[in-house]
Amino acid sequence: PTQQERFSFQAEVVQLLDLMIHSLYSNKEIFLRELISNASDAIDRLRFAQLTEPGLEEEGADKEELRIHVSFDKDARTITITDNGIGMSRQEVMDNIGTIAKSGTREFFQALTGDQRKDATLIGQFGVGFYSSFIVADRVTLTTRRAGLPAEEAVRWESDGRGEYALEAVERAQRGTELVLHLREGEDDLLNHHRLRTIIQKYSDHISLPIVMPQEGDEAGEETVNRASALWARPKNEISDADYNEFYKHVAHDFADPLAHLHSKMEGTYEYTLLLFIPATAPFDLWMPEARHGVKLHVQRVFIMDDTGQLMPNYLRFVRGVIDSADLPLNVSREILQSSRVVDNIRSSAVKKVLRLLKDLAEKEPEKYATFWREFGDVLKEGVAEDYSNRDEIAKLLRFTTTKSATDEPDTSLGDYVERMKEGQDKIYYLLAPTPAAAKSSPHLEIFRKKGIEVLLLGQAIDNWLVTSLPDFEGKRLQSVAQGVSDLGAMEDEAEKEAGEKAGTELSGLVERLKEALGDKVSDVRTTNRLTTSPACIVADEPDIEMNLMRRMRGSGM
Ligand code: ADP
Ligand code: MG
Repeated sequence: PTQQERFSFQAEVVQLLDLMIHSLYSNKEIFLRELISNASDAIDRLRFAQLTEPGLEEEGADKEELRIHVSFDKDARTITITDNGIGMSRQEVMDNIGTIAKSGTREFFQALTGDQRKDATLIGQFGVGFYSSFIVADRVTLTTRRAGLPAEEAVRWESDGRGEYALEAVERAQRGTELVLHLREGEDDLLNHHRLRTIIQKYSDHISLPIVMPQEGDEAGEETVNRASALWARPKNEISDADYNEFYKHVAHDFADPLAHLHSKMEGTYEYTLLLFIPATAPFDLWMPEARHGVKLHVQRVFIMDDTGQLMPNYLRFVRGVIDSADLPLNVSREILQSSRVVDNIRSSAVKKVLRLLKDLAEKEPEKYATFWREFGDVLKEGVAEDYSNRDEIAKLLRFTTTKSATDEPDTSLGDYVERMKEGQDKIYYLLAPTPAAAKSSPHLEIFRKKGIEVLLLGQAIDNWLVTSLPDFEGKRLQSVAQGVSDLGAMEDEAEKEAGEKAGTELSGLVERLKEALGDKVSDVRTTNRLTTSPACIVADEPDIEMNLMRRMRGSGM
């Protein structure tokens, strides 16, 4: 018998727990989904570790079938969830439970509003996970042993969720994790076979491992309460939207339903299944350098590894789901993946399918597409530079705010723009500005307003790279309105040309004096007919670097 040691939760955990208990109470049964999801992840990880770490295939108690076990004890008022997955070492328990190691934690807490309904959604996005057990339990005991460690190196973690937890070393014959929830007062309705089975079937039917419960009542024996087959391997017509949604929440660690999904089984040169989802909200780490990719590679239903960029390009890093290949070896390594023809083939068809899904969404469900664009548009823009072979398809998916947009919402595609182009207009005009407000009041727009020519207003950091990587669209050149001599070509009438020349002669004295006064601060001073109300504006030389880009580079100290 060793000593118990006490530790404090990270301050954020205390805050999170408090919020969660209050704002998720109306949805309390999700605790079971979260804990089963963790158990399933732990078994997936064990299976993969067994392929790569020798010595994890154990004898005796560990030889049994991989499964999740759920039971309850009416007298003790406990619910117990057990898995024979990978388990945790003492250090892993300390790192994973009681601490939030996720990137974006601070941003998350800043985003909380205090409004329970809104915060519930945020918490879900962040991933409620293990801590959801405290919605129904006032004490949680977790006993776990990491696969490969000796029986006496198991560890017991216990907490009432109020700020502290206790750790002690224990013995555990089996690898894996057992979680005992001591229910709060008034939660006795959960101590019921039928109730628990219903919750499991509702939220966890898609889990591909058996979820086992003891037979109801005093009968001996067990029953498997879920279908225990990989959802993506089932025929589509046997899968409901609810099944897809629950599966999404499990793979994406999300709380909300996805925006769209695609499910297809490919049988050509290579055989594989794709089940991919577009989330409805951006994860917190979307813009962080270590942002997770969200596609899980399986080989013949066995989880192999999380994508680290081989399956989905960076600009589709928000896609979540599963790719299951029948052609890769089970012991495939990252190195093999990187140079695998099978993977290249799967990747390029998966990318095309995702772009196709987005195109359909844009055409058939524009409101959902607007949501998608708001959450992920700036990521998708990276694709224009990153994925040359799909550049045209990606360009069609872009949305912009323009001088003709009713609101600041990006509602115009390049296709819309081209359709609305004025007679004689052969270019797509854009303005780069640091903010939408600055864009709208820019003097560069005056002549375009006067002539009723639409201009794309680009205000995001990524837009600089976007326009450099997208010189044209459907044969129309993209042209900055702030660059060089404004060449409106055929759209300029004779009278305007004359007026321009006349101004040039009349103002030559002023131009000379300005040149003298400004010295080498400018490369040139000239008259223009592009302004209607402003007296002057600054333009960048063509093909010089854009003013906006210069401003940004200065701002970032480059
Ligand atoms: P998430 O599942 O999104 O990572 P959770 O709060 O659900 O977040 O779990 C936190 C971490 O605790 C997991 O990532 C995992 O490392 C560990 N963990 C939780 N439950 C188990 C389990 N049954 N077996 C092994 N590790 C677990
Ligand atoms: Mg989890």
